[in-house]
Amino acid sequence: MYDVIVIGLGGMGSAAAYHLAARGSRVLGLDRFGPAHSNGSSHGGSRIIRQSYFEDPAYVPLLLRSYELFDKLANDSGRDVLTVTGGVMIGRPDCLTVAGSKLSAETWNLPHEMLDAMEIRRRFPTLTPAADEVALYEQKAGFVRPEATVGAHLDLADKAGAELHYHEPVLDWTSTATGVRVRTAAGEYTAAKLVICPGAWAPRLLADLGIPFVIERQVQYWFNPTGGLAPFQPEVHPIYIWEAADGIQAYGFPASDGPDGGAKVAFFRGGQTCTPETIDRTVHPHEIEAMRRQMLPRIPSLPGEFQRAATCMYTNTADEHFVIATHPAHERVTVACGFSGHGFKFVPVVGEILADLALTGTTAHPIDLFRPERLAEVTP
Ligand SMILES: Cc1cc2nc3c(=O)[nH]c(=O)nc-3n(C[C@H](O)[C@H](O)[C@H](O)COP(=O)(O)OP(=O)(O)OC[C@H]3O[C@@H](n4cnc5c(N)ncnc54)[C@H](O)[C@@H]3O)c2cc1C
Repeated sequence: MYDVIVIGLGGMGSAAAYHLAARGSRVLGLDRFGPAHSNGSSHGGSRIIRQSYFEDPAYVPLLLRSYELFDKLANDSGRDVLTVTGGVMIGRPDCLTVAGSKLSAETWNLPHEMLDAMEIRRRFPTLTPAADEVALYEQKAGFVRPEATVGAHLDLADKAGAELHYHEPVLDWTSTATGVRVRTAAGEYTAAKLVICPGAWAPRLLADLGIPFVIERQVQYWFNPTGGLAPFQPEVHPIYIWEAADGIQAYGFPASDGPDGGAKVAFFRGGQTCTPETIDRTVHPHEIEAMRRQMLPRIPSLPGEFQRAATCMYTNTADEHFVIATHPAHERVTVACGFSGHGFKFVPVVGEILADLALTGTTAHPIDLFRPERLAEVTP
């Protein structure tokens, strides 16, 4: 009998397994794939991390804690997980990306600067904003490395005594007044508590939440910039989120994958609805062309030679906020899902919250925004 079983060892589950094991719990972690795999949502070399959060100021305290925990993770694991590069949130002054980021920065008194188009061009010569565009510049923004982060959490969980089983899909789980039972392709396990972090498999493993999750296919693109990678090195190039006049957001990174890595860019939303079984893993020429067309007027040297692309899945909720809570119908079960394409920067703090909830039933972190009840469809 384990203290806690963690289903799903991707971004959130690996962090939960680590925090639970570090607190002395006997942990069993289960994943349908291998460690830090590329079949879910936590792969592709880089994820943006930032503090002036346009999505909602309520995320800011969690982000501040996440930065602390990423630093601790780097120290404890010896891995390179977080690189601060500075970041620009660009668009017209009243767009969500700029106005929302400014609201968070002002609400929480976060260091930031507002740059006009001339100043953006002066500081970051690869960027060519239109005359009516501005940016919120945040020095603390940068990127984290998803595979290294998941790997680091799994290594540390293993060292702290967690038992981690890979290539062992969970078929179903039940929860009673006395404990939980999990059935996999290989056997059955019991524990006092269960933590479920299923990523894009939420519609199946957490169907009883009654939340209409929408799984969205997204593509990450790498280009070799014309003129070479030197202007795109992390020492000189910021991460960016760029909102066009039609509301479409694209975002990208400095060249973070070494000398041959290319510079990564992607659209934030607008992908096709899919499932983990039906997702089209082929990236088509018209998609590469659309990405190129989006970036040419903004970062003309970026979309040089196309290098490669990789698909990935978002698990969207109707309001694009997360679901992190004790399961409303099962007090022994903690759930973390619906990260809606912006969860990775929170991975370490979500691990801490999940350990709090599983072991004590409560957390000091502000998670009211993430209550599942707000999303559940009313059953007739
Ligand atoms: C293209 C793309 C770009 C993104 N960019 C950013 C960004 O810049 N910044 C940011 O903060 N976030 C970003 N995100 C979002 C972020 O990566 C996700 O929110 C985060 O990775 C979700 O983690 P997760 O643990 O929920 O899912 P996952 O990491 O996919 O983990 C779920 C795990 O559950 C396992 N599992 C599922 N079902 C079972 C089962 N039955 N039995 C056993 N195991 C099971 C899966 O194998 C998987 O390992 C991006 C996402 C994508 C796709």
